[in-house]
Amino acid sequence: MADAVWQTQNNVSGHPSLEKKTLLMAEDEPPGASLKPLVFRVDETTPEVVQSVLLERGWSKFDQQERNVEDWNLYWRTSSFRMAEHANVKPWQCLNHHPGTTRLTRKDLLAKCLRHMERLYGTPLYQFLPPTFVMPSDYSKFVAEYFKEKQALDAKLSYWICKPAELSRGRGIIIFSDIKNLIFANTCIIQKYICNPLLVGRYKCDLRVYVCVTGFKPLTIYIYQEGLVRFATEKFDLGNLQNSYAHLTNSSINRSGASYEKIKEVVGSGCKWTLSRFFSYLRSWDVDDLLLWQKINRVVILTVLAIAPSVPFAANCFELFGFDILVDDNLKPWLMEVNYSPGLSLDCSVDVSVKRRLIHDTIELIHLHSLRDGRKESCRAANGSPDVPLAREDRGQGSNLPYESFSELRSRRAFSKDGTPGKKAVTECPENQHTCQPREALSRQKEVRPLTREPPKAKPKARARHPALKTLMPRVSLIQSHGREKGLTLCVQPDGSWVPGSQAGNFVLIFPFNEATFGASRNGLNVRRIIQELQKLTHKQCSQAAEEKIKRK
Ligand code: ADP
Repeated sequence: MADAVWQTQNNVSGHPSLEKKTLLMAEDEPPGASLKPLVFRVDETTPEVVQSVLLERGWSKFDQQERNVEDWNLYWRTSSFRMAEHANVKPWQCLNHHPGTTRLTRKDLLAKCLRHMERLYGTPLYQFLPPTFVMPSDYSKFVAEYFKEKQALDAKLSYWICKPAELSRGRGIIIFSDIKNLIFANTCIIQKYICNPLLVGRYKCDLRVYVCVTGFKPLTIYIYQEGLVRFATEKFDLGNLQNSYAHLTNSSINRSGASYEKIKEVVGSGCKWTLSRFFSYLRSWDVDDLLLWQKINRVVILTVLAIAPSVPFAANCFELFGFDILVDDNLKPWLMEVNYSPGLSLDCSVDVSVKRRLIHDTIELIHLHSLRDGRKESCRAANGSPDVPLAREDRGQGSNLPYESFSELRSRRAFSKDGTPGKKAVTECPENQHTCQPREALSRQKEVRPLTREPPKAKPKARARHPALKTLMPRVSLIQSHGREKGLTLCVQPDGSWVPGSQAGNFVLIFPFNEATFGASRNGLNVRRIIQELQKLTHKQCSQAAEEKIKRK
């Protein structure tokens, strides 16, 4: 039987629309013979944008009255799933949460986890979380540190921030310099306040970086190359620690501030930029944005690595995290927190452009993954579940996937021993691909439209060392895994090493990042080995950045 292909009915060019249902169709069957809609399930917490994007991509919303209880392919909700729900997930279903990830997303647990890693591996790599004390258990340690620092700083003030462990959106946060002003009730953390943030037009900001972990066993991490930069709406001022509009960058707080609409120096109105605009701004100041992005990538990998060995195995699920990163004026990224179910409300035009595309690309990514994993049983229709799409494997197409599995790629040509490329043609790394059309509807389109990036608002100065976010992707050549579709790819790094690269829209694989980490994440996770590789990589990236700097002088 010929290939089964994802196709959009009446729409070979793949433009999504409400009327057009995304369907799976056997190529050599008469049109309409086995067309099955993909079905998504929601609850009252499912973000509106997720639903609208899925409908736009041609999915159908699950309706219990009309369907068998198991006839759905994706369940997306804000809260976590029970273990029983994970255990009962069917091969054709996918959940948007992975069990065991709250150890990253609760501030106190995150602090403990990262502290543990630092102790275990004795590496300064883990010093990206500001010194943190979990209250009430660390109270005496905090008091000792507070007075030690006070003495060392002599007359100068030291600054701390106290954050409730389980709250979000800036609720319950206090910033203090005098211990007399510290009040806390429930579990909270006290953290060193980063008092030298990188300011844009004298406004503090932080970065919301989206990260999708498509699996913990083996560990597979993608970073989203677009994101949000959230600004405080009043000028940074250490003289007034009570002013939340100057010290907190949460948009839920700043939206209600008097200066939200005001045209602010450099920042403009509102309180958000896209990440690409921010990097473009940095380049205009001759900042090495690539190095900063590499450091952020490392923070993400090291953070996820901290819980990866202990999360239970769960099939058919993924986790979309929101990493909050504060960059200081030495260009060091500090991890503020990791968000579970990062906010997806569309409050301004920047939200609309970033978050809608993020959801499109997330769907694209998980679709790509289910194909790449070559799940033998994926999408197997349950008995009596005729509306659940059949995967190509179920049609006897197991060896004819448009994407090869990692293992196939690897054994055939990914990491040739001598480091030389495989026999297939090496093609230029395509620019990020615009994915507002569903991959499940792409069918066999040969042409992929280039990404249309938001043009930088502030014109960068002449130097364009890193053309926009393009350089945030590995600067590599790609080998198409298959001639027919773009998706799973192999990357050749500038140094000639091979990486199993994969890209879905703006998502780029950041772990595993080379042959050694690929090996160290299969058949159990060898964390020590991975950290050694990260140390080597850090060293290499820093030397490259230093060489680059010298060349520019
Ligand atoms: P929440 O979950 O309530 O948003 P965060 O940890 O993200 O809590 O903190 C909210 C905001 O407070 C951050 O976006 C950042 O602007 C500021 N902030 C938090 N921790 C620090 C810190 N250690 N140093 C400087 N600013 C901080």
